[in-house]
This record gives sequence, structure tokens and C-alpha cells, in this order.
Amino acid sequence: MSNSDNSPKHGVNTRLAHAGYQPQSFFGFVNPPVVHASTVLFPDASAIETRNQPYTYGTYGTPTTDALNAAMDELEGSHGTIALPSGLAAVTVPFMATLGAGDHLLVVDSIYAPTRNFCDQMLARFGVETSYYDPGIGAGIEQLIRANTKLVHTEAPGSNTFEMQDIPAIAEVAHAHGALVSMDNTWATPLYFKPLDHGVDISIHAATKYPAGHSDVLIGTVSANQKAWPALWKTFSMLGVCAAPDDSYMTLRGLRTMGVRLERHQKSALEIAGALEGRPGVARVLHPALESFPGYELWKRDFGGSSGIFSIVLDVADSERFRAKAHAFLDALQIFGLGYSWGGYESLAVHANLSDRTIAMPPREGPVIRLQIGLEDSQDLLADIERGLAAAARA
Ligand SMILES: *Cc1c(COP(=O)(O)O)cnc(C)c1O
Repeated sequence: MSNSDNSPKHGVNTRLAHAGYQPQSFFGFVNPPVVHASTVLFPDASAIETRNQPYTYGTYGTPTTDALNAAMDELEGSHGTIALPSGLAAVTVPFMATLGAGDHLLVVDSIYAPTRNFCDQMLARFGVETSYYDPGIGAGIEQLIRANTKLVHTEAPGSNTFEMQDIPAIAEVAHAHGALVSMDNTWATPLYFKPLDHGVDISIHAATKYPAGHSDVLIGTVSANQKAWPALWKTFSMLGVCAAPDDSYMTLRGLRTMGVRLERHQKSALEIAGALEGRPGVARVLHPALESFPGYELWKRDFGGSSGIFSIVLDVADSERFRAKAHAFLDALQIFGLGYSWGGYESLAVHANLSDRTIAMPPREGPVIRLQIGLEDSQDLLADIERGLAAAARA
């Protein structure tokens, strides 16, 4: 299953600079052209009948989307990649590719909330049953697998609360029972975790986040191994959910600097997370690369780094006050913006809504504040968080 044999020997930044890079195909211009296209012309009637040429219609790909997909294949060690118009589409299309009426799906409870909505509301309508499992389940997932379980969907670390998962153990059990394994790998990017090397069949990215990196693009990618690729490609081409040319270009452009950006996100996030640990007003810091974090050992075993998003749990004795304290914290911030998404250059904070959880229950000590640590100077960000904590203490 490991793809490491055919992965390039170069370091990650060298690969980021050259993945999907083919200047000789474009008259020597360094970057691929942004191909805006629906129609592709054929030289004659027989060629259009056999469709025997590299490009046939805009929905099936262009040199621009191919460059992005080739770059992702190199980074993920995958057989094929598709690019879709959002990260959410990158989650939902693999479900449609692998599941049908009467099938059972296992999804981690610490899942990105819109993924849960899709399973409970859309897949249910099409006769697919979803059950949720504890992120710490590991090989124990065997007890939840049924004869009709076709897919085990993972996400590590979990959304907002950052629970780690034992991906290789889950993959081994799932495969022994004939199920495929998908993973939302958005947090780590392929730089810090390569799911296919750990037994996952389908790796998903909200490339909106670090790959695009500037809060101005919505895009998703799905990279599959040889086993999962035919169904993924077939479903993708039937649905017509192709990423737009400018967004594909911007994402490839973002990948070129993702390594240096992530180094900075990682360093600042670790500095800030470390400084907040044990600080009065902060009950816990939820960051997989902190030794105190329950998933730390798994993170250290499997991941090559940590990115710039983590959460803090405010220390609030009275649960009636959670919302007021969270709002006081957020409203005092001057540098952090209040808004969804992450992976851009600017810092963001939100009060995480964990009301959908059924197994991985929210912390009891206080509200969960999710922090996206941007590229600003970390001492300024820490001072901003201090402002928030002081306001929460007063509220
Ligand atoms: C943001 C996010 C998505 C969805 O990405 P969009 O491009 O915003 O649709 C999916 N999964 C995870 C883990 C995310 O954080």
C-alpha cells in the first residue's frame, strides 16, 4: 500500500516548487496558462467520435487543472487527483463515488460539521446509513463494522477539538472487512501527513485553506490510490463538479509557497499554544503537538509537523456563562478577525459550536475558542489573546 517507493527523493520545498511544473509544454513560461474553456475542437469527425485526444471538454480537465492535480499527486503519492469547487464538495463526492442504497458508512464523531449534515440529511435520503465513532477507537472499530460497511471516513486531527486518530490501525481493520478508507487531511496538508502511505485509499483537502492560502479561493481536491480511483473519476465526471480555472491556478500558485508559510504558521502556533498552557483563564489548550495533549503520541508517531490552527478552552466555572465569556473574549480582539475558515495569512478566531457531537463530547470547563494563527508577528497575536482573556475574566 505504501507509495513511498515511487515518491520523489527531494525535500518538500523542492517538490512544492516543481510539482506539476512543465514550462517546456508552454513555450518556456514558468507557470501554466489559465485555460478558460468549455469547448475543445477536434481535427475531424472521426476524432470527435473516438474522443482520442488529451482534452475533450472543459468539465473533464484542462492544462490548468491537470497541473494542479499532478502537483497534488506528487505530494500525496496518489494515482489520481480531482479538483472540485469547494472543500465540502471534496468531502461529498467521494461518498457518492463509494456508497449506494443499503450501504453503511462509519464517520468519526469529531467531524467537520457540514460533513455530518451531508451524511444525515443527503445520504440518508439515498438509503445510506451513517454511524459515528469515537476518534480514539483505533482497531476497536472492528466492532462497528457491518457486512454492508463500505467506507470508513476519518479526519485527524478532529475539527475544532483536534482529537487524533490511529489511522493505520483503522485502515487495517477496514480493509480486512472489504471497506475503503477516506480521510479529510486538511489540517496537516500533504506536507505533514501523507494518508496513502498510512493505508488510506482517498485523501481529501479543503485546498481553500493552506494550499490556496489567502482567503480568496474556494477549492477542494481528492487524491486516490489505484483501487479507489476509477469510481472517483467516474462519479466526478458524471456530476460535473469541476473546479474553476482561475481558482485552480491560484491554488497551484499557493502551493509554491505553502512550505514556507506552514513553517511560520507552525512556529507561531506552537509558541502561542505553549504560552497559553497553564495560564489563568485557560483551562486547556487543544493542540496535537503539545505533549500534554491526549493525541500527542499518535501525532508524533505519524505526522511530520503541525499547522496553525488549534483551540483553547476558557476556564469558566458556570456553564450558563460560557457564551458571554466567549463573546467577551472575541469582541476584545483587535488583530484576530472573527470569521470562518482558516489557512489564510491572517489570524482568525471563532467560538466553536460543538452541539452536534454525540460521542466526542465538548469540554466541560468552558467554551472552545478556535484560533487560526496567521503570518503576523506572534508577540502581537499573543498580546491580542491576552486582551481577550482579560475581557473574558471581567465579563
Ligand atoms: C473548511 C473545511 C472543509 C470545507 O472546505 P470549504 O472549501 O470551506 O468548503 C472541509 N473539511 C475541513 C476539515 C475543513 O476545515
